[in-house]
Amino acid sequence: MSAPNSVQKVATAPSHGSELGFATRAIHYAYDPADHHRAVSHPVYFTSTYGFESMADVDAAAALGGKLYAREHNPTTELLETRLANLEGAEAGLVLASGMAAVGALTLSLLSQGDELIVHRTLYSNTTAMSEQGLPRFGVKVVPVDLGAPVNLDAVITPHSRAVYFETPINPTGDVLDIAAIAARAHRAGLLVLVDGTFASPALQRPLEHGADIVLHSLTKYISGHGDVLGGALLGRSELIDRIHNQGLRFITGAAPSPMASSLILRGLKTLPLRMERHGSNALAIARMLDEHPAVAWVNYPFLASHPRHAIAKRQMSGGSGMMSFGLRGGFDAARRMMDKLELMTIAVSLGDVETLVSHPASIVRARQTVRPEAHLQGGVGEDLVRLSVGLEDEADLLADLRQALNRL
Ligand code: PLP
Repeated sequence: MSAPNSVQKVATAPSHGSELGFATRAIHYAYDPADHHRAVSHPVYFTSTYGFESMADVDAAAALGGKLYAREHNPTTELLETRLANLEGAEAGLVLASGMAAVGALTLSLLSQGDELIVHRTLYSNTTAMSEQGLPRFGVKVVPVDLGAPVNLDAVITPHSRAVYFETPINPTGDVLDIAAIAARAHRAGLLVLVDGTFASPALQRPLEHGADIVLHSLTKYISGHGDVLGGALLGRSELIDRIHNQGLRFITGAAPSPMASSLILRGLKTLPLRMERHGSNALAIARMLDEHPAVAWVNYPFLASHPRHAIAKRQMSGGSGMMSFGLRGGFDAARRMMDKLELMTIAVSLGDVETLVSHPASIVRARQTVRPEAHLQGGVGEDLVRLSVGLEDEADLLADLRQALNRL
């Protein structure tokens, strides 16, 4: 159906031979207006099921993996899956209803009773909850370890270990882990390497190029970018992604995204590389200012040249994202006072939005402890830690807002 000069032909096989750039593929990959009544923007397929002309057609669709029903197949979602897989350098992709839906589908598809999962000791709080309260109920043992020193992996690998799971950059610290070093050790023992790359997005970091087997993203964050939708993705080899599709999505979680969510994520994705550049330049300016401010005790932003893991960050990321953490000399109380004085930045959980968002994990944990006394901060997270998701506002306005809050402590 494609016209000879169609966008898709150009986007997948340009006449000059070399592969098109990331930004071009984020806008065009796998979409040809000629196949869609010349609509330049993708259509949104609102349907829960598909009609067939004959039983032979049903047989053919079923043989292809059961493309009969919208929980397992939607053309808008599939465009997003194909485009994300291309951008991440993966064979295949799967999009789910949220990042946690991706964590659930991934772990419940690949792990069985008696298996062990090794995780970095600091993870997004609900991934920690899945590790501590979810997986053990199903007979999966989760072993936390400090992967900041990849050698620590060797000591916890047993014949039951199946996979290692970590985030880089890490939520909420923003620190980085060495993907290649961890993957080399894990692969030597036959483990799968599962990396949550939400804090960087494929515009800055592609973990598969450094040895990961599957990359997970919360699409709610940078990839959609505008704080108006939830989504999650898993990207990797077809054999693994198909297994998660046919089990984790189809009948374990059933957590399919709505086609509207997939469409919004596709729209956000088109500006991802542009946004990441600005998130990174704003964040670097803020990290430098914080680093010199007398009220600040420490700053964790791996693209500061003084950061202990700067070399690792530079090796596996093309630039810093908007995520960082810092602590004030006045600790827990000063963090809360400072946040109450901010006038432009928004106190909110979540991250990767155009707005600058600031959160204080210890305050959230203390509030939760009033109803769930066992709630606790993740390993490696102190009571003073403030997390910043630096947005796309003017750098000078962000610096001024933080400075006035810090100066009035
Ligand atoms: N992974 C990381 C690193 C996150 O920060 C989050 C959410 O904050 C998730 C996964 C879960 O994603 P979602 O909120 O889309 O379920």
